[in-house]
Order: sequence, then structure tokens, then C-alpha cells
Amino acid sequence: MYCPKCRTEYIEEATSCDDCGAALVNVLPEETVVENGKLVDVFTTNNSIEANFIKSLLGSNSIGCTIVNEHLVSINIFLSNAIPIKVAVDQQHVAKAKEVIDQYYKDLRENK
Ligand SMILES: [Zn+2]
Repeated sequence: MYCPKCRTEYIEEATSCDDCGAALVNVLPEETVVENGKLVDVFTTNNSIEANFIKSLLGSNSIGCTIVNEHLVSINIFLSNAIPIKVAVDQQHVAKAKEVIDQYYKDLRENK
């Protein structure tokens, strides 16, 4: 038996989750699989410092993210301005990540 919310596995006799109280199911539904979540780009820049800043900004909002292409830039410094660096988050965090980034740039404009 499995908890559909927190994905804990339980013995056959269990009927509800100890952690969150959800009713247990025999098979976990496919759509709750998060470990293979699709990554979606939420920010693109040519500046690796900016990309890393966005990464830490998202991290401070509990949103895990991955910087795409950064290694290409560091091994080919002469092309660094031509290679877009992307910050990607799990698709379930896309809306929140965009909100955090938008808010940051909005604050930046208003506080100059
Ligand atoms: Zn649970």
C-alpha cells in the first residue's frame, strides 16, 4: 500500500498514512511521480553570474533549479556571449518560479 500524497510505502494492513492521514492506495497514480519531473526553462541570460543569482533566488524560495549550458560557457569563454544560459525548474514549480523572478525584477526597477 502507498500514500498517494507523500509516497510512503506501507504494509498491506494499513489503510491510512501515518504522516498525512491520506487514504492509502494499492498502486501509486502515474501523475504524482515527481522524481522524473520535466524541467522547464523559466529564465534565459547570457550572463552566468546572473544565472547563478537567479538560481540562489529560487533556492531561497525553496524552488530547486538547474542551470543549463553553464558548462559550455565555462569551457569556451570566447563564445560565452553567444550561448544562452537557461535556468530550468521542475514543471510543477514553473508558475512560482516565474512569479519570484518577475517580482525580483519589478522590485529592482522600483528601487533604482
Ligand atoms: Zn502520506
